[in-house]
Amino acid sequence: MLIPNHKIKEGVNYVNDMSHILPLTIEKPIPQKLARFWGWAFPNADLNAVYIAYGYRIYTNQSQITEDLVFHEREHVRQQREVGMWGDRIWLFFYLISKRIRYQVELQAYQDQCLYLGRTGYLSLEVVQEIAKLMSSSMYQARWERKPMVSYKQAYEDLQNVVSG
Ligand SMILES: [Zn+2]
Repeated sequence: MLIPNHKIKEGVNYVNDMSHILPLTIEKPIPQKLARFWGWAFPNADLNAVYIAYGYRIYTNQSQITEDLVFHEREHVRQQREVGMWGDRIWLFFYLISKRIRYQVELQAYQDQCLYLGRTGYLSLEVVQEIAKLMSSSMYQARWERKPMVSYKQAYEDLQNVVSG
C-alpha cells in the first residue's frame, strides 16, 4: 500500500498500460467492501490516495499510477504469489495482524521502488527521507496499534542500507 508523494513522483513517467512490466490490472475505484475494510483497519490512510495490491490487481481511487508505484505494488503482488494458494488472503491476514511482517513487506516494496528510482535518476537523499517519513507515519498504523509501524530512524537506516548497498 502506498500514498503517492509529489516529491517522489516528480518527473517520473505516468503509465496507463503496465503490460510491459507485469500483467497486472488497475481497478478503479476501490470496491466498497475493500475500501470500508481498509478504512476501518487503517483509519489514518487516505482512501482517495492509496493503492492496494491484492491478488493480481491494484485497487485505487486515483486516475493514474506512476511507474515507481507500479514497481512498489508489483512487489506486493509477487509476495502474495510467493505464498502460493490463497496467497493474497494469507498475505493480507499477516499484513494486518503483524506490524513486523507489514514492515518487512513494505520495506521490500519501497526498496524495489527505490531501485527503479535509482535506475531512472530520481533517487535522492530527500526521496529516501520522504519514504522514511511515510513508513513511520500513521497511515501504516492499524487502529489497534499504539505506535506507527516503524520509527523514522529505523526506516531511514534500513532504506539507506539498500540504497547504498
Ligand atoms: Zn506497500
